[in-house]
Amino acid sequence: MPEPALLTTISGARAYTREVRARGLRVGLVPTMGALHAGHQSLIERAASECDRVAVSVFVNPIQFDSPADLATYPRTLDADTERAAQAGATALFVPSEREMYPDGKPLTLVRVSGLTEVLEGAHRPGHFDGVTTVCAKLFEACEPDRAYFGEKDYQQLRVVSRMAWDLNMAVEIVPCPLIREEDGLALSSRNVRLSDKERRQALSISRGLKAAEAAFQEGERRADALKALAAEPVASAPLAEPDYLELVDAETLETVETAEAPAVLLTAVRMPSARLLDNVILDPTRR
Ligand code: AMP
Repeated sequence: MPEPALLTTISGARAYTREVRARGLRVGLVPTMGALHAGHQSLIERAASECDRVAVSVFVNPIQFDSPADLATYPRTLDADTERAAQAGATALFVPSEREMYPDGKPLTLVRVSGLTEVLEGAHRPGHFDGVTTVCAKLFEACEPDRAYFGEKDYQQLRVVSRMAWDLNMAVEIVPCPLIREEDGLALSSRNVRLSDKERRQALSISRGLKAAEAAFQEGERRADALKALAAEPVASAPLAEPDYLELVDAETLETVETAEAPAVLLTAVRMPSARLLDNVILDPTRR
């Protein structure tokens, strides 16, 4: 397995991908904040199966953090990331410094998607999505990928970035990838390493609740109240888990719905003492 090229500058990333595209080859980009796990790996593998070259960006984007403590304790494991990305099929790692991405500190230009960003995560994390869309726009400019891969784990982010690309006629196809879980159901997240054993055990209540709702949906339950009650119940009996929100929303518009007749997503964010965790299940009557 060849070592992936290590790119640290925007001009270097652009030169790499332009050279690839000039040869008629397709470039896939997998934007990450590092601390790579099997969820990231699945995105990289998907990109490698569909593209000739795969760039994985590793950048802990300061402007999308609303909590300085979260930013300060975000895990950083570049050596292990390089290894994992290479094994999954990455041909280049783009690891810019903060100075490279934001030479003046916070940029004066922000990309904002309105409508999809005021709810759910956006309501709890002011400025978060402006940071996400701005860094994604910058990464797309730097790498000019044909396709960029995003996980359904961060469902709202996926919708927001897809909408940005569509609204701005960006020449990149946004590819959604399924949420990957641990065997016991916990959604993989870089922040999971912060959980104590006790927190981790109680965090399992999140996926347990969502799975119960999903099972009821598959049996024909469509009422939001009933589905939410099933998802909420295990979390309510986990003393360390504090839900921020639990909503059934339309899969496209992210507006809350009373019934899951059209494709919908049941999304939750739960605060544990050491990490805030996101999870969701897609309830699509056509995806049986
Ligand atoms: P992050 O490094 O957390 O910013 O995530 C980078 C990309 O990996 C995003 O598109 C995430 O949605 C995706 N991702 C993170 N965790 C998972 C997971 N458990 N399953 C699938 N994709 C994931």
